[in-house]
Amino acid sequence: MLTIKCAKCKQKLFKYHKIGIGRVLHCWKNKIKNDNTIRKDGAVFCTCGNRIGIEMGNYIKMDQSAFIYSGTKQKG
Ligand SMILES: [Zn+2]
Repeated sequence: MLTIKCAKCKQKLFKYHKIGIGRVLHCWKNKIKNDNTIRKDGAVFCTCGNRIGIEMGNYIKMDQSAFIYSGTKQKG
């Protein structure tokens, strides 16, 4: 499991069960756990107001500059 965090305030946004390697470009909603995000007008926000992605049906298209993650894929 990856822990997805806000790049601005470092708050935990949700846990994500990622399959395979590579960057987190989008997050399937059915693999998200412990979701602390706010959904508004089709976008996904941290509680600090930072927009972390856009809702696209059954997944979230993630904004690459808006979040960080830790877990099995952590680098540098
Ligand atoms: Zn935040």
